[in-house]
Amino acid sequence: MDAARSVYLPRPMPLARTLLLRASRSPWLAEQFRKRAFARRAVRKFMPGESLGEALDAASALAVHSLGTVLTQLGEQVQKPAEAAAVRDHYLQVFDQIRQRSLPAHVSVKLTHLGLDVSREACTLHVLDLAAKARADRTFLWIDMEEARYVDATLDIYRRARADGPGIGICLQAYLRRTPQDLAALLPIGPAIRLVKGAYKESATVALQQKREVDAQYEALASQLLDAGAAGRSTVVFGTHDLRLVERIRAQAANRTVDGRYEVHMLYGIRSGDQRDLAAQGVKVRVLISYGSHWFAWYMRRLAERPANIWFVVRSAF
Ligand SMILES: Cc1cc2nc3c(=O)[nH]c(=O)nc-3n(C[C@H](O)[C@H](O)[C@H](O)COP(=O)(O)OP(=O)(O)OC[C@H]3O[C@@H](n4cnc5c(N)ncnc54)[C@H](O)[C@@H]3O)c2cc1C
Repeated sequence: MDAARSVYLPRPMPLARTLLLRASRSPWLAEQFRKRAFARRAVRKFMPGESLGEALDAASALAVHSLGTVLTQLGEQVQKPAEAAAVRDHYLQVFDQIRQRSLPAHVSVKLTHLGLDVSREACTLHVLDLAAKARADRTFLWIDMEEARYVDATLDIYRRARADGPGIGICLQAYLRRTPQDLAALLPIGPAIRLVKGAYKESATVALQQKREVDAQYEALASQLLDAGAAGRSTVVFGTHDLRLVERIRAQAANRTVDGRYEVHMLYGIRSGDQRDLAAQGVKVRVLISYGSHWFAWYMRRLAERPANIWFVVRSAF
């Protein structure tokens, strides 16, 4: 193949990332991995513990450093209506705990954890219940974005819940080719949007495959979001650990009246020092804290984002 042509062909996803994302879908591997003490030790880098109590304690500790939090119980693709209802009930308790402990915490949910695969209607009702609770408690409910096949349903459910009032936001993924259109279609309803790069293995038909393309689309979408935020048309959150990107966003925000009205969200255990530094510089930062026992698929996605993290697993084994 000639060199000029190879520049224009999408490079395949790095092998380690592809294998880790494939592994994330294996129930057998999940079972094997979760039983091992070394794996549980390694995963502690990204979560304070499996219990809600440990997540709430971590949220209190972060609040001391002016860091807000977002709490999420790990789990996805539940297959039984009763399990989905139990997840909704769990989150209603989480909101109670947040209020009782006066924590500056939001909640983030995955729709397949609330039974999207089982019943779209029941899932919608669970989201409406949680959004109403978030509003009553003057806090916030976020909806994660999962694989591309769920995007239409997730956007529909978000629109339905947003029609009841504010206090609810949705995640959009910059790697999806459709996201510029999705953002444009959402802006008229005054959405709250958490922009991320995207964590799943998607085909080239639906998603940009090269990191620099994803980064460029992220930056273009961020710029539109800052405009929308400045015009009071959107609540804006950037979910990223990409500090170069964050610096560029901060510079752009300083040129608009949106300065100080957007937030940066990062994951627990990733760039913790930078999270504190940004907060000390006046940026509103929240840390997304995951907890629960169903951490395998989620943990594989964290390893896929930075395969060098596999060394934590190896080191924890000895
Ligand atoms: C608050 C929040 C919510 C999210 N919600 C969703 C969601 O709903 N749906 C979805 O598809 N994805 C979600 N993600 C994940 C996201 O899509 C990316 O996969 C992830 O954030 C990595 O991309 P990045 O923007 O940090 O940039 P990258 O370019 O991947 O990383 C920038 C730098 O950050 C550091 N870094 C990034 N990831 C890791 C890691 N795992 N371990 C150690 N260092 C790391 C590295 O230093 C890296 O060089 C969320 C991420 C955040 C922060």
